[in-house]
Amino acid sequence: MSASYDAIVIGLGGIGSAAAYRLAARGARVLGVEQFDLGHDRGASQDESRIIRLSYHRPEYVELAKDAFAAWREIEAASGDRVLTITGGLDLAPPDAPEQIEDYATAMTAAGVDFDWLDTADLARRWPQWRLDEGTRGLFQAAAGIADPSVGNVAHQRLARAHGAELVERTKVTAIREHRGELAVETADGGRFATGAAVVACDAWTNDLLGPLGHPLPLRVTREQVTWFEPADAAAFEPGRFPIWIWLGEPSFYGFPTHRGRGPKVGQDIGGRETTADGRSFEPDPDYLARVEGFLRAHLPGALGPARTKTCLYTLTPDRDFVLDCLPEAPGVAVALGAAHGYKFAALFGRLLADLALRHDASRAPGAGLFSCERPALTASATNLVSR
Ligand SMILES: Cc1cc2nc3c(=O)[nH]c(=O)nc-3n(C[C@H](O)[C@H](O)[C@H](O)COP(=O)(O)OP(=O)(O)OC[C@H]3O[C@@H](n4cnc5c(N)ncnc54)[C@H](O)[C@@H]3O)c2cc1C
Repeated sequence: MSASYDAIVIGLGGIGSAAAYRLAARGARVLGVEQFDLGHDRGASQDESRIIRLSYHRPEYVELAKDAFAAWREIEAASGDRVLTITGGLDLAPPDAPEQIEDYATAMTAAGVDFDWLDTADLARRWPQWRLDEGTRGLFQAAAGIADPSVGNVAHQRLARAHGAELVERTKVTAIREHRGELAVETADGGRFATGAAVVACDAWTNDLLGPLGHPLPLRVTREQVTWFEPADAAAFEPGRFPIWIWLGEPSFYGFPTHRGRGPKVGQDIGGRETTADGRSFEPDPDYLARVEGFLRAHLPGALGPARTKTCLYTLTPDRDFVLDCLPEAPGVAVALGAAHGYKFAALFGRLLADLALRHDASRAPGAGLFSCERPALTASATNLVSR
């Protein structure tokens, strides 16, 4: 054995970086291992904007999102960096939309969160940027905004190191070995480390490590893309005049105001083709862009302008719920998977993963059944993916 640790965090994207910090802050001896450079753009937690919102389809998620806001505020206080930009958030349901917006309203009401119901005339008055069909309804929730991975990940990594964590880049973990409760983590360069706990925060690569442990998850990886536009009237898309938004139609789109001098940014939710973490291409798909531009032409024409597109990976569970659990086969192995809507929760997941890794027990974790790696959606072969 090269060395031994209380916890080894595998994958230093948004979630793993948070876990490394929270573990180190509790005094654990922590090794964090990332297969590429820190801040690389092959995974999910990259660029400078992810939506953060309280507006969710179940009260459990709304409560979790409250905790996520609080967890990011702790990181901002500890690091001195600003991760969150509050813009307000607008959920839009066109007349033919599924019932989802009602679920959002019901869940927020149950969780005591204030929001406004808006009809088409209210929406047109408040945000004349939109062209909406009569019968379109909106929910506006003032606390929503942007969580910035380019700031949040670096803050977590800096804080982790300041608390003594060793973070290594360009080192791939090839196996987690479990033998009679003893755990070891092996790396491609021949390292073998004993550890009290392993945190798997590998998103699209999760099954490379869980498969050999006997617990592969039914994940689907899709290649998605986001596009930054340069509109003629950029001021109309500044925060203050334009919130983050989600279009709850079929297909579903989402977008951001301008942020850090770029945007507005727009994407389609689950608009991409299935791929693999290592087999994907980085070349934008022109049909995907055409769908986004077609949507904007119909509903947000002023956002159109010269475009820059980049690709990104979604890693989806069949029910789109997270995984936050210890493996039954190896309770020292804690797993987190953001199911392609998890960045907003990264700071909170870090804390919850520290609990799991140090306790080897997920029974007291929030959403324990919902996020279990043994829930029916992960054991039966379900294939219909849903938007969150
Ligand atoms: C286009 C797009 C838009 C999104 N929009 C939102 C949004 O608006 N709001 C929101 O909350 N979420 C959103 N998400 C989802 C969110 O970004 C992800 O759920 C979250 O970032 C996942 O974080 P992660 O740390 O698990 O994954 P990643 O950031 O991909 O990190 C996993 C890391 O593990 C490393 N790794 C994997 N295997 C190994 C190994 N064997 N050894 C060493 N290292 C390894 C990888 O290299 C990678 O760095 C979006 C995702 C995409 C792609």
